[in-house]
Amino acid sequence: MNHPAASVSGSLNTMLCLRGQAVVRGYAIGRAVVMGAAALEVVHYRIQPEDVEAECQRLKEALLQAQGELQYMIDHLPDDAPREMGPLLTVHCMLMADRMLSDQACLLIAERLYNAEWALTTQGQTLAEQFAGMEDEYLRERGADIRQVIERVLRVLSGRPVVLPDFESAQAGELIVVARDISPADMLRLRGAHFGAFLTDLGGPTSHTAIVARSMNVPAVVGMGNIRSLVRDGDLLIVDGMTGAVLVNPPAFVLEQYRRRQEAYADDRAALALLRDAEAVTLDGVRIMLEANIELPEEAVQALAAGADGIGLFRSEFLFMGRESLPDEEEQYEAYATVVRTMQGRPVTIRTLDIGSDKTLDGDTTVATNPALGLRAIRYCLANPDLFRTQLRALLRASAHGRVRILVPMISHMHEVHAVKRALDHARKELDERGQPYAEHVEIGAMVEIPAIAIAIEPFVEQLDFLSIGTNDLIQYTLAIDRADNAVADLYDPMHPAVLRLISHTINAADRAGKSVAVCGEMAGDSQVTRMLLGLGLKEFSMHPQQLLDIKKEVRQSHTNALRVKVASALNRAERIDLSALAAG
Ligand code: PEP
Ligand code: MG
Repeated sequence: MNHPAASVSGSLNTMLCLRGQAVVRGYAIGRAVVMGAAALEVVHYRIQPEDVEAECQRLKEALLQAQGELQYMIDHLPDDAPREMGPLLTVHCMLMADRMLSDQACLLIAERLYNAEWALTTQGQTLAEQFAGMEDEYLRERGADIRQVIERVLRVLSGRPVVLPDFESAQAGELIVVARDISPADMLRLRGAHFGAFLTDLGGPTSHTAIVARSMNVPAVVGMGNIRSLVRDGDLLIVDGMTGAVLVNPPAFVLEQYRRRQEAYADDRAALALLRDAEAVTLDGVRIMLEANIELPEEAVQALAAGADGIGLFRSEFLFMGRESLPDEEEQYEAYATVVRTMQGRPVTIRTLDIGSDKTLDGDTTVATNPALGLRAIRYCLANPDLFRTQLRALLRASAHGRVRILVPMISHMHEVHAVKRALDHARKELDERGQPYAEHVEIGAMVEIPAIAIAIEPFVEQLDFLSIGTNDLIQYTLAIDRADNAVADLYDPMHPAVLRLISHTINAADRAGKSVAVCGEMAGDSQVTRMLLGLGLKEFSMHPQQLLDIKKEVRQSHTNALRVKVASALNRAERIDLSALAAG
């Protein structure tokens, strides 16, 4: 094989540097184990017309056997298997049982006289292309499930055992799995071994490799294009899970540099883990609330494990997306109550449906001229009162189990606040009629993510129990920068004085009224701006659970009084704040 890294003798000139998308952070140094891909080595030939029936039978039996193997894995999942594994394997089982696969492949055998492998890969390709054409990123990536299912059936058809990495031959150091893609079933088989990292040709941030690697906390770089053809078994690899770089057969001095980085990173993580039960208190004694953002009820466990003071943002729309029918009141109630119970008395802030713009319901074909400025979030809910009240009833019922706070997105007008309160009263009456319990007082808050409400915040503070600043949208609307448009990404500036003034104004107004105010946009989880937010007077941060300990570390090394003075003077001069000047505060 022509192999660019084969002649590497440890010089910088010959070192191969590949790049992909880093989806799980961390560093790994180790030997490559390259996994085979049955689909690439498939045999194509035409059968005789009299053999059609037998060939179809061969295919159906292989499908049944592969299904049986998966079912066995589902039934015997080890206790320590990542929790995503069961559902992922079940999806593969369902795809194998789907008649779209077997019937169409048999048709190809009958009509074109393809052998079973050829028919299977052709039909698999058709289905994968249908997925690839879908708008939703999650569904697009499900094309990978089809490919993995086909691979498994091909292995059965070939009569060859599953090609697993040869762990024994891997030399000293950690094993780095290099694969075209890694199916959940592969992940399960690989589980017992000790891995340094996962590298795949295919995949994106929501691919299975990413999901499972994240839950195993193993660095992963995906979407590498053709790494399988560039790396051989036993090659020495450095994986930089911060930047997505993969160095093949690096020279000694590069290796040494990365070993030092790896050690420093491991020391950092170990030191951070010790902060799990430490209080988030600044050097001058201010207690800061650090809460978690979640998208699915199961993630509350992760929030609790990270030591979160509560859930600062549960993006409820994820319960509604990627499905044909909407969740009914019962399903929503179960989801909200699960989070409330998991958090054991800590506050749980649940945002009402924030649908529209980049988050759409399946089957919604509305074409708005500018969806980010259209019928989004609370506007959508008020236009669909039955759907909104169903959610409010579910939220109120969940409040019987703990401290639920209802957060309303995209508020810009006072009449919207009044309409939400009326809808809540209506929902309470409906529950009274049914005799169903709910908490006497449930706090109602608004997302501050449209400049209008931040500028004229005072009357809103009076009407509401709390505020949560959604900096992701606040920045987009203040600077007129589409947050999803790469062409203007360099103008999306969280440090713009106008943005900081809006945040400052909101925090001060809430403070004066004695109401709580959080930041739940990405800024809250960025340790580089923690001091700046503390300097603006922020005492409540909500972020992805994985970022919580980094922020806690910053908080514990900061002095809010000193920061407030520095930030206030910069804001008064409308300067762009120099973050390095805050480092000592
Ligand atoms: C925000 O806008 O900052 C926010 C937290 O909400 P989302 O990212 O879901 O729009
Ligand atoms: Mg938002």
